[in-house]
Amino acid sequence: MTKPVDDAATLIEGVRSGDRRSLARAITLCESTRSDHRLLADEILAELLPLTGNAVRIGISGPPGVGKSTFIESFGKHIIAEGHRLAVLAVDPSSRRTGGSILGDKTRMVELVNEPEAFVRPSPGGEQLGGVARRTREAMLLCEAAGFDVVVVETIGVGQSEVAVSDMVDLFALLVSPGAGDELQGIKRGIMELADLVIVNKADGDLAAAAGRTRADYSSAVHLLRPKWNSWSTEVIACSSLAGTGIDEIWDAVLRFHTTVERDGELTAARSQQSKAWLWSEIGDTLLERFRADPAIGAALPAAEAAVTNGHRTPTKVARELLDLYVAR
Ligand code: GDP
Repeated sequence: MTKPVDDAATLIEGVRSGDRRSLARAITLCESTRSDHRLLADEILAELLPLTGNAVRIGISGPPGVGKSTFIESFGKHIIAEGHRLAVLAVDPSSRRTGGSILGDKTRMVELVNEPEAFVRPSPGGEQLGGVARRTREAMLLCEAAGFDVVVVETIGVGQSEVAVSDMVDLFALLVSPGAGDELQGIKRGIMELADLVIVNKADGDLAAAAGRTRADYSSAVHLLRPKWNSWSTEVIACSSLAGTGIDEIWDAVLRFHTTVERDGELTAARSQQSKAWLWSEIGDTLLERFRADPAIGAALPAAEAAVTNGHRTPTKVARELLDLYVAR
């Protein structure tokens, strides 16, 4: 008799051997809200943890229309030709886009999706960025265990998702278009500060000259920002995802970045810091979930909220009382 698909040992073995269906199933278990799935996911992750951490983790962000999916496709084909295996994940609460997930749209990354050395995973469904980020982190670990040595996490360039992505990757790349300044492209200074690499896309045809100027502008601008690493200064590179020019230069920069921050011990320190931050956000999220699910808290909340909103009591005092009530149980 064949074993059921959701047998932990079978899935662990499948992921370990690089089987994409097992990988997809394991990620689905991580994304599930069912507690039996969660237990299974925890077991799989614990077993595979020693096999993780070996990928170059790259975050890619930029405003809609800048060419992220075209870039990832071009970049992906380039590195696969160099003998690498690429996983593409997305961080964006699906509610932000109609029709579901960011990569679910079949017109995006058509070539990569059909490439045996690539694994493309749509953004997990979910309203809360925190939850989506957690599941993407877990998906990244599973991809590493499955032998993908380059993991790209894509985010659309709005809101807080860039911060969440930069907290889970080694290198954060920001895609910009030729011509328009930061304000026009809606790129906030805080997001610029996260960038280890600025990529000026669409450096082709009529846009080539503008791309050169934009590259020079960003090169001066990044020097004014607070450095993120001791051993790496942000680089600005122009490319054309359509023509495939500059892609090799970008991959070369990614590799130089990785070698440099690894050699200096900064990568290990940064990843440790990320794990610690992840632990604390798990603690915070789980506490809040349990707190909200507690029946006594549920019963006390309407009166507590009313007392605060009508100004009869201070939020500080009411919060403490609710927490004491929760802890006492
Ligand atoms: P995304 O929303 O950031 O994922 O952007 P897309 O990858 O969907 O690209 C948006 C539009 O820009 C599409 O029409 C692409 O063909 C075009 N585009 C993407 N990369 C390039 C490029 O390198 N050069 C030019 N000229 N157009 C590009």
